[in-house]
Amino acid sequence: MLKSLEEHDKERMEAYARKQYTGIACPVCGEEVTKIRPGIVSHSFPPRIPIGCIKCWWQGTYII
Ligand SMILES: [Zn+2]
Repeated sequence: MLKSLEEHDKERMEAYARKQYTGIACPVCGEEVTKIRPGIVSHSFPPRIPIGCIKCWWQGTYII
């Protein structure tokens, strides 16, 4: 059974949305922090990406 293009796109969008979550608790309020700009990786070592809390607006980076 083939799926429709709409179904496919919906699945992919949900997968991308899930990828924003880090599984890390905000150090300020404990809410799960999310990636701010997916795909943006700093060239420091170790590489870090920006993360932030949608609840209290804490921002930081984490090592990937
Ligand atoms: Zn927070």
